[in-house]
Amino acid sequence: MNLFGLHIKVGWLWIAFRTTWFVRLAGAAYGPFIFIKPKHWHKEGLLVHEVQHTRQFWSPWLWFKGKQWWEVNAYATEVNFFPVEDHRLKTLVFARYLANDYDFGLTNAKSYDLIENELLRIRNKTNL
Ligand SMILES: [Zn+2]
Repeated sequence: MNLFGLHIKVGWLWIAFRTTWFVRLAGAAYGPFIFIKPKHWHKEGLLVHEVQHTRQFWSPWLWFKGKQWWEVNAYATEVNFFPVEDHRLKTLVFARYLANDYDFGLTNAKSYDLIENELLRIRNKTNL
């Protein structure tokens, strides 16, 4: 959608902007606002990841889980967006991001385990 020269996408309680502003990695979410760099704008998985951050924002019981959990949860949600046969490769790729692009002090292996466990939790959930 193009609004006053802005490229945006809107959903239930979120709005995404195509911009380099406020974005350290490929995308970022602040409350209900999502910012995605132009070269990543077409990536549906990334949008799923950032939308999950907005869902975390609108879920006060998740506010105290902390930044590492928010990222693990968002990456697991992103993995879950892809077909099951791609889960292992996507988890490997996102585990590397989690280990290397953040300051959580996680190894690739530990990051893989965290995302895999969260993915299992999400897939076994029946009430969300
Ligand atoms: Zn994130």
